[in-house]
Amino acid sequence: MPIVHPGILEVRAPALNFFVLRDDKGLYVIDGGFIGGWRMLQSALRSEGWQDEPVRGVVITHGHLDHILNVTHLAKAYGAWIAAPRLDADHYAGRPKYSGKSRVTGWLEAVGRVVLAYHKFEPDIWLDDGDRLEISSGVQAVHLPGHTRGHMGFLWEEQGVLFTGDLFVSYRDQARLPLNIFNIDSQQNVRSIETALAIKPRGVLPNHGNLAPPEEHLRRLEKLHEWLSAH
Ligand SMILES: [Zn+2]
Repeated sequence: MPIVHPGILEVRAPALNFFVLRDDKGLYVIDGGFIGGWRMLQSALRSEGWQDEPVRGVVITHGHLDHILNVTHLAKAYGAWIAAPRLDADHYAGRPKYSGKSRVTGWLEAVGRVVLAYHKFEPDIWLDDGDRLEISSGVQAVHLPGHTRGHMGFLWEEQGVLFTGDLFVSYRDQARLPLNIFNIDSQQNVRSIETALAIKPRGVLPNHGNLAPPEEHLRRLEKLHEWLSAH
């Protein structure tokens, strides 16, 4: 499993990649992975020799099932706290409210929660826009709604790396918008791309993307933004 930036381990998985941040107190998992995520996380930590370091926190970008399936298990297994966007509370409780095209996502998740034995949770830390986590010398919550109501990015201030959740997807040298059926409000998501770029990160890391450094994903996102502005 690759280190995509000093202090950031990317856990690669077929459906959803997720990240581990490390500071001198321990490890912080950014999103919890989907099917097989627990096993992949453990093998990723072993591959870096990080397996004996305490996992202190689990930080959630948004309430979609592929990001939160393992959160309850991770928090219990490691004794870790959970920090998550307040506005996606209905998702963590297993009763997400979807409207419009995104109702398709709601139907898929309803089946998924049963088949995959989802366990609901209540975060220890409810996050609002601008909140700061005292990890890795400061990580700031940036509300980037549209994909879900509560969707957030997380800016590791010291390095200028923004974890962007599902703000966009990034495969084959190209950034794309998430499919409409996965967004609660696609127009709002486009405005959130502007918000993300306005804070001038040095790199971004999406959960759905091929293996590339943060600077490369940022270059793709900037190209997508240019295209959106011209159309
Ligand atoms: Zn999502």
